[in-house]
Amino acid sequence: MSALYFSPMLLGLCLLLAIAIAATALWLVSRPYAGPGFWMLGSWTLIAGILLFIGFMVTGSPTLNVLGNAGQLAGEALFLLGIFRFMGRPLPWWIVPLSVCTMMAFNIHYWVYAGNSDFLMGVYSTIAGLLPVHAIWVLMRAQDDAVTRPARFLVAISLLIYSVITLIRGALGYLNWWHQQPYEMPYASFSYLLPYNFAIPALVMGFVGVTLMTMQRILARSEYHALAAKQSAQRFERLLSATSSGVAIVNAERIQDANTRLEQMTGRQRTELVGLPISLLFDKASQSLLEATLDRGSVRQLELQALHRQQGAFSAEISLEPLGNNGDRILELRDISHHKALEAQLQTLATRDPLTGVLNRRAFDQAVQPELARCERHGHALSLALLDLDHFKQINDQYGHSVGDQVLQSFTQLCQQHLRASDRLARFGGEEFVILLVDTNSQAAIRLMQRLRQSTHQLQPDSSLAELIVRFSAGVTQWQSGDTLDSMIRRADRALYQAKDAGRDQVRCWPLANETIHHVDP
Ligand code: GH3
Ligand code: MG
Ligand code: MG
Repeated sequence: MSALYFSPMLLGLCLLLAIAIAATALWLVSRPYAGPGFWMLGSWTLIAGILLFIGFMVTGSPTLNVLGNAGQLAGEALFLLGIFRFMGRPLPWWIVPLSVCTMMAFNIHYWVYAGNSDFLMGVYSTIAGLLPVHAIWVLMRAQDDAVTRPARFLVAISLLIYSVITLIRGALGYLNWWHQQPYEMPYASFSYLLPYNFAIPALVMGFVGVTLMTMQRILARSEYHALAAKQSAQRFERLLSATSSGVAIVNAERIQDANTRLEQMTGRQRTELVGLPISLLFDKASQSLLEATLDRGSVRQLELQALHRQQGAFSAEISLEPLGNNGDRILELRDISHHKALEAQLQTLATRDPLTGVLNRRAFDQAVQPELARCERHGHALSLALLDLDHFKQINDQYGHSVGDQVLQSFTQLCQQHLRASDRLARFGGEEFVILLVDTNSQAAIRLMQRLRQSTHQLQPDSSLAELIVRFSAGVTQWQSGDTLDSMIRRADRALYQAKDAGRDQVRCWPLANETIHHVDP
């Protein structure tokens, strides 16, 4: 036992133990990188094999000898599989059962026929020495993995030293067997001590190599990921500055980052925007609208009034979408004031008369419908007046078409001055106008028309044309149950016809109202 204690075998075992512990640590820190798991498993299997072999030396039990040799070869083969795994090559897993079974077959033969143990040692060393050859080849030849080249060479050289020493040891075993030398216990045998002195230190060197190889790969991968992350961040930043929308990263309703466009849209510097509650980008009314929607995960196309610091409010549309899972959200702010202006312009074009700016016929039709419904429900008074300028053709002929236009404009302005906000004035075409008077009965409507008629007498669209006379005739009617706009217009038209027939510059009502004033201008 003391012979074992003082032999390099114990030192070799302790070195292997150190490798196994270090391999376990490497496996833990490098997960999920491929390779270290096999190195850890191989190291511990090798140690288990050596312990069983020491058991054989102490007890002389042939079973322990068989299991010890098998365990050592299995451990070595597993360690080598780790190299294939690390290099991304197909695993030659068959080397484990092949080496173990070959060794066991020879062992059992020895057991049955009681041959010289030096021969068995030769067989073991031949298998163990040849096992790493393929792995050495793979390590030296890998072209595509420049990063790990120095460490790979270190591992290859270490394995080569291990192989050569093991094969020398095998040759010595065969020589002793050939010369029928008496068998010596391993710790007294030169050929046994050779691998413990030299091959195990080579394995230590090899393990340092595989550790370096793993670390270099981890480092290269993390550099690669860092570069990819940097490029992705740069792309994101370019994207943000290229977009025509204002973009901000928002967390807990406060701005974390903003693009240049948002700076331009809000008139605030980025440093000022960072940390600002997003509600402050909008006017008071929009703030409450925004707060009501902020609890939702995402907000899409919400129209608000955003604020430019110097230029004031402008129409904007916002979207707010989650970004990742740390509570970040991405706020997109689009200036839609141009769309809004265009929309308003289109609305005006569709509903207003271009010359006078009052409602056109279609818009008047629409505006009247709710009033008619209201009357039908509540029986409110409602009157309609049709107005037609008298002898307008003559004005055109005498003063020209543009003066005619001017007259039409001045006349509408005058009408508007006499009307309430709730009344509706529309140009029905040419020099014909229609007025809807809400909460007004026919008498009040007639009185209003008379006042307007008087005012028209003073109308002077062009100061240079003092002799220009503008007059109009009007037909008035009051709403009756079951009336439609058409039926009211028909009656008002009839009254207007009567006014014209009676000499123009008149207001007539149909059916006749109690207070119909048949006014003839002096
Ligand atoms: P009455 O008293 O019977 O209504 O006679 P009037 O001349 O007013 O009626 P008439 O229907 O004969 O003529 C209407 C004129 O209004 C004819 C047309 O040239 C003119 N007119 C129609 N639209 C416009 C416009 O937009 N601008 C100008 N300047 N004239 C217009
Ligand atoms: Mg007319
Ligand atoms: Mg006319």
